[in-house]
Amino acid sequence: MGLANEALRRLNLRAPTDEVAFALVHMRTERGVRLDFTQAPYLSAILRDRRPTHCTIACAQSRKTVTYVSKLFHLLRHPADDTPRTAIYTFPTVAKAQEFSKARLKRMIQASPLLHEDVADVDAVGVKTGRSGWALYLDGTFSELGATSTPADILVHDELNRSDPATLQVYASRLRASHDPRRWLFSTPSVPRFGVSALWEETDQNEWVWQCGQCGREQTFAPMDRHVTWRDGLDLQAETFRCCHCAAPVDRARVLSGRWVPQKPENAHAAGYHITAIMPPESTAPRLAKAFGEAIQPEVFAQEQVGIDEVSGTQHVTAEMIRFGEWANALSADRPLVGGLDPGGKHDFIAGDGKGKVLAVHRLGDWGAVANAMSSLRISVLVCDGAYDPSKAQELARQFSGRVFLADYSLETVGRRFWEHVHNQRRVRVHRTAGLDYCGRRIIQGGDGGDVFPALPYEQERELKAHLTNMARTSVDDAKGRPRPVWQKIGPDHLRHAHLYYTVASEMTEIGFGG
Ligand SMILES: [Zn+2]
Repeated sequence: MGLANEALRRLNLRAPTDEVAFALVHMRTERGVRLDFTQAPYLSAILRDRRPTHCTIACAQSRKTVTYVSKLFHLLRHPADDTPRTAIYTFPTVAKAQEFSKARLKRMIQASPLLHEDVADVDAVGVKTGRSGWALYLDGTFSELGATSTPADILVHDELNRSDPATLQVYASRLRASHDPRRWLFSTPSVPRFGVSALWEETDQNEWVWQCGQCGREQTFAPMDRHVTWRDGLDLQAETFRCCHCAAPVDRARVLSGRWVPQKPENAHAAGYHITAIMPPESTAPRLAKAFGEAIQPEVFAQEQVGIDEVSGTQHVTAEMIRFGEWANALSADRPLVGGLDPGGKHDFIAGDGKGKVLAVHRLGDWGAVANAMSSLRISVLVCDGAYDPSKAQELARQFSGRVFLADYSLETVGRRFWEHVHNQRRVRVHRTAGLDYCGRRIIQGGDGGDVFPALPYEQERELKAHLTNMARTSVDDAKGRPRPVWQKIGPDHLRHAHLYYTVASEMTEIGFGG
């Protein structure tokens, strides 16, 4: 293989102004192999797209990292105005950033004659600098702020969906002083409306479109808008991709001759690209079928292997599932109720009979209003998040002695219940995932043994529905790389937590607390 000398010479001339030529001539993979886009033409367009904001959603084996590293080195080596640039490249954790720097990035630099000569300190882990004046910092997001205090021109966030959203915000402010700021974010997706999926909404949303050789119709595999699903395009039994219109097996040459088509061309200010399982040459249908067979959670297969966001089907709460009764939202009660409180900007409060009938849903303004609600709703047991404002929560517990319990999400193993009362203390420990699972089922069951909410004015009903559905169940790897189920927050979710605390209060009452 290899490029002929004459072809290389011509590409080399174009390299300063052409990202693809630069990648072909100067970049190598960590195995020392030249980059080649003949089997991945969709990457060329991403390399050449100079819009300042990129959000790329990609499946495994998409080569997104090496593509963006190549794009980055082109910009560092050939800034349009010859002013040296500073870049910050992040991974979720410092350990991952260091591993990337030591193993992959160092080898890519060493394998490239140009970069090997330019990089002043190939062994440095946290920062690489170029003899022409550029700097590249590598850092994690779940850490003390390291490189975050350095002003930057280019931010690259790899594995965005596993990164700390709060730290990413801080990084964004580091671009303020730059005259040519760039922000490139990419990741395998996780759940809808979270991370790259949320950012995707603000981009021009390019999907890869090709024409079926059989029926001639244009199509996209596993598009983000779900006008067809990945199961329409991937036949796991026959181990083949199929046309989603006529079901003919897909000819790979047809996919390769496809093109990017923006689904939201009006968002031209930000580039969005979606690389799915049908695109990388390594991601074949038989390989995907094998991975699906081995997958413990089908939604994680869809997220990582297919490249589409997905939630666990059985545990997902949707707005249509939430049931409302005919009773009004109570401000007082003539018999004792139990309650749950999630204090915060608003103190979100849910109270009911503990047996399926929720009687009150209030977003209270301050702790005084909470105390009033304790009295007027005759709360016998209140479970309250004890972490937000511990001194105020303690004060409430003293004021209503024996009736207020402070909860935290510190329980790590589940016994008979998803919560545990700490002996002789006004404290309960809750297992977050098991608790949200259990309470999610109570919402889904509605009138059939679950919870029914009071009739609410339109705006409050909308708010409750949003909070109860603003969590999606998915899976993340723990420190040892084993998948662990979690509920991911995708918007304000305080009433979902208040409902969980209310559920704990209900169960505590059943076994004699507060009586
Ligand atoms: Zn067809």
